[in-house]
Amino acid sequence: MNMEARVRGIGMTSIRTRRRLADRLRNNGIHNEMVLDAMVEVPRHLFVDEAMEWRAYEDCSLPIGSGQTISQPHVVALMTQIVLESQEEGGEVKKVLEIGTGSGYQAAMLARLVDKVYTVERIRTLAHRCTDRFRQLGLRNISVRYTDGFDGWSSEAPFDAIVVTAAMEEVPEELLCQLRPGGVLVGPVGPHEGAQHLTIVRARENHSPQIQRVAPVRFVPFLSGVC
Ligand code: SAH
Repeated sequence: MNMEARVRGIGMTSIRTRRRLADRLRNNGIHNEMVLDAMVEVPRHLFVDEAMEWRAYEDCSLPIGSGQTISQPHVVALMTQIVLESQEEGGEVKKVLEIGTGSGYQAAMLARLVDKVYTVERIRTLAHRCTDRFRQLGLRNISVRYTDGFDGWSSEAPFDAIVVTAAMEEVPEELLCQLRPGGVLVGPVGPHEGAQHLTIVRARENHSPQIQRVAPVRFVPFLSGVC
């Protein structure tokens, strides 16, 4: 029996295990049932290395290689919930840009809930691995680009929401320019080695953006250039 079968055999990656994680997230303040359903449906163990599969449904971040991490499920759920509930007057979120593809898990979660996800990654091996991963999983509404996320994805702008999954010392002006009026950017803001806060920045027509701090978080740094 190979490793994967053995892990599956003891139920570490089963639907029941995922439901348990969703219950835990619900108890910890995630109220959006569409988000919780997506947490059950998206197989997080397929976004981590095989050796880490058995820990995929614990509520913690895990290494994914190249010095990066897959975010903690609670934070992924919270950011996804913020995106879905961000539109004023009940408008729909259709088009989302993610900065920091990493394992591809956050993009896969979003792809179940919105029409189209654009995601960019500055580390070549991660970007290419995700392109293959999304194809294998049949996730056709995600486009991946290997590039520096400081520039966003201007040819596809404006976006209803932008999710940044690496800690920004300051929110790049260029990203805010790619939001439609009323759209939100959500992501960690703070020094690379200090206190970071999950922050919502709402673009407003003819006004400076509205900023709201949500919760303390810990993310890998948002870095410029590609490698
Ligand atoms: N959303 C990911 C989290 C990955 S960690 C997931 O679900 O797994 C954050 C990622 O942001 C890392 O892969 C890192 O390489 C990437 N990143 C950091 N700075 C970036 C930048 N300027 N442009 C694009 N990606 C960036």
